[in-house]
Amino acid sequence: MCDVNSYKWYKAHHICVKCGHENAVRNHTQCLECMMKSRESARAYNKKNKEKLKEKNRICHSRRYYKLKELGLCTSCGKRKTKNNKTYCDYCSARKNRKTREKYLLNIYATKNMCEIRV
Ligand SMILES: [Zn+2]
Ligand SMILES: [Zn+2]
Repeated sequence: MCDVNSYKWYKAHHICVKCGHENAVRNHTQCLECMMKSRESARAYNKKNKEKLKEKNRICHSRRYYKLKELGLCTSCGKRKTKNNKTYCDYCSARKNRKTREKYLLNIYATKNMCEIRV
């Protein structure tokens, strides 16, 4: 049997595509055991290459950041122009502000009584 076909067949029958004999977890293509195994191996890989990945990520991010800043583009979306030497465009800074405000409000809701809230 061709691999692609068996993948599709297993998937269609909700059978794990990896081991091919356990039932797949709902909305997934693998059984619990295989999912755990692949998660474990991914974790082991990340652990082993942690510093390398971190460094790579850092370089990648900072390179992108400076490049976008140099071009006068938003460092968040990388698409829109920024004004006054800012790092975010209007859209992203508004979104960021809204997020901060939401967090702030949630915090208030969580810690105060409804009657104390004045927004
Ligand atoms: Zn499996
Ligand atoms: Zn933006």
